[in-house]
Amino acid sequence: MRVDCHMHTPLCGHAMGHPIEYALAARNAGIDLVTVTCHIPMEWEDFGQAGIRMPLEDLDSYVEMVGKAAAVAKDLGVEMLCGIEAEVFPDEIHMESMDTVLAAYDFDFVLGSLHAQCRSYVGWLQRNKVKDDAIKIDSYFRHLKDGAQSGRYDSMSHPDVIRTYGVVSQFNPAEHEEVIRDFLQAVVDGDMCMEVNTSGLTKGDFEVHPDPLILDWASEMGVKLTMGSDAHMPTSVGQYFDPVLTLLREKGFRDLHYFRGRERQRIDLPKPMGAVVKSDS
Ligand SMILES: [Zn+2]
Ligand SMILES: [Zn+2]
Repeated sequence: MRVDCHMHTPLCGHAMGHPIEYALAARNAGIDLVTVTCHIPMEWEDFGQAGIRMPLEDLDSYVEMVGKAAAVAKDLGVEMLCGIEAEVFPDEIHMESMDTVLAAYDFDFVLGSLHAQCRSYVGWLQRNKVKDDAIKIDSYFRHLKDGAQSGRYDSMSHPDVIRTYGVVSQFNPAEHEEVIRDFLQAVVDGDMCMEVNTSGLTKGDFEVHPDPLILDWASEMGVKLTMGSDAHMPTSVGQYFDPVLTLLREKGFRDLHYFRGRERQRIDLPKPMGAVVKSDS
């Protein structure tokens, strides 16, 4: 079984393709289950509004659209679940309205993302006089750890996204091992997941999120993983899954997880499609 648990729809304002097209793409990529995870509506405009996330009044139509698409997807042999990509942020005041939204909807899956490149977080760093790259990276992972401990999320997404979009000039995880391990330990202690996000291979330093060294630590510490393409167009569904599945196996991972109705489901780590074809021939 292959699953892709992170993708967006045009309601976010920066993605293309109807969920049915994502389901078709999943079928063609040999993926059995997808979870749609549009960006959650946020009140504070520093989180980015039009072009980043849907307004709150669109959330009902989002859930309805994914529900209808799920019925079509089922006929295609793909299970489609409805999740949301929620925000992680250090100031609790900005989490309160988000908590109300999370409580009002029965999402299958809630991702926790700290979008370090958003004006919200860049402004937080400025207000708190965090200028040095090393301190920015340490702060980011401490906030991710707090997010993991909050109990709000099922999986912490693209966990080292601070390395992209120019927030810091370089990212060497070995220099931040202690704070990153603290975050990983919070994921383990919270009995939740961390996301392996293959979109990292399409931007910045063209490496998977999180960095392979962080995956070494995660494997050693027993971190459970979800996996997502972060597709913003149907052709990106399942992108780079084969090389990343191979990497995960090399790192010692033997399973993956997804969530239905906020309940964690375990699957065997899928074999790369190439390997499946070879073993059949
Ligand atoms: Zn997006
Ligand atoms: Zn994101």
